[in-house]
Amino acid sequence: MQVKNRSRTSYISQMRPQDILMPVPAGLCCKPGGFHIDPVRPVERALITHGHSDHARPGHGAVLATQETLDMMRLRYGDNFARSTQAIRYGEEIRLGDVKIKFHPAGHVLGSAQIAVTCKDTCIVASGDYKDAADPTCTPFEVVPCDVFITEATFGLPVFRHGDAADEVKKLLASVALFPERAHLVGAYSLGKAQRVIALLREAGYDAPIYLHGAMEAITRYYESRGIALGELRAVKGMKKADLAGTITLAPPSATSDIWTRRFPDPVTAFASGWMRVRARARQRGVELPLVISDHADWDGLTATIEATGAGEIWVTHGQEDALVHWCKSRGLAARPLDLVGYGDEEEHEVVAAGEAEA
Ligand SMILES: [Zn+2]
Ligand SMILES: [Zn+2]
Repeated sequence: MQVKNRSRTSYISQMRPQDILMPVPAGLCCKPGGFHIDPVRPVERALITHGHSDHARPGHGAVLATQETLDMMRLRYGDNFARSTQAIRYGEEIRLGDVKIKFHPAGHVLGSAQIAVTCKDTCIVASGDYKDAADPTCTPFEVVPCDVFITEATFGLPVFRHGDAADEVKKLLASVALFPERAHLVGAYSLGKAQRVIALLREAGYDAPIYLHGAMEAITRYYESRGIALGELRAVKGMKKADLAGTITLAPPSATSDIWTRRFPDPVTAFASGWMRVRARARQRGVELPLVISDHADWDGLTATIEATGAGEIWVTHGQEDALVHWCKSRGLAARPLDLVGYGDEEEHEVVAAGEAEA
């Protein structure tokens, strides 16, 4: 009896990581904790890393997330986006079933978090989307030591090196100075990227009013309400065409290529995205002024972060998994791609609701 008990105990204390977190069709499932992380289908209990719509979906029972992520979900989906909600602070520990969980800053967008799940002696960190580059609009990324690190791989190829976002903003300002009679239209994802570009413009000393497409107003005002200073912002709606000469307007990427742009005098079309490193993509989209500004880690950021966590095992998800898995293995780390489906790439696509398209 004694022997049997001991062997049972040692089996439990050496829990395999895949018994703690496992990919299932609904997302990343934690059976011992009774929850899913960023589920793509409605579940009883969801832990949400950040507010982007492919990670934060409506219709769950209980939702645990940072206050900012909960607020963003409420803004997008309305008050009844979940049956119940609970806010968690960075660094706060909560016990769920047989596991302990903690949220840590991911540096991706306001309120974004990595989720650390600890069961017995094993700690797994699900990073969600993250970046290790400076961003004046959110809490900086924090390295969380762990046994298993689940990393995104949006830009998981050595060709992706984002460089300094401040230099890209200088390019934009140089173009504005060069073409005072033209309007500058900057395509940027409306949650996170747009506010970061505005904050970078302010850091660079640009203090003129910045104009917003209607689809960006609510989320940008929300950033301001959380203490992110963005200077004078104006709605582009109702402006006379001639008065937009020499100005900068932020708009969802999809709006910069449709008839909405006719309200601007001879617009220069810019696009702020990590994909702008690929010239063919910029050309394909008709982007005149590509700005390499990304809210995801680049190749150097991904590999440096993997090393810094000290994790012996790496699970690689949404993006270009193969190169990163290969890199990990060449460094003697156990690594595998994680089969998670349903996560998009917010840098590339943005759907604008019909009512907002003409705003
Ligand atoms: Zn994201
Ligand atoms: Zn993502």
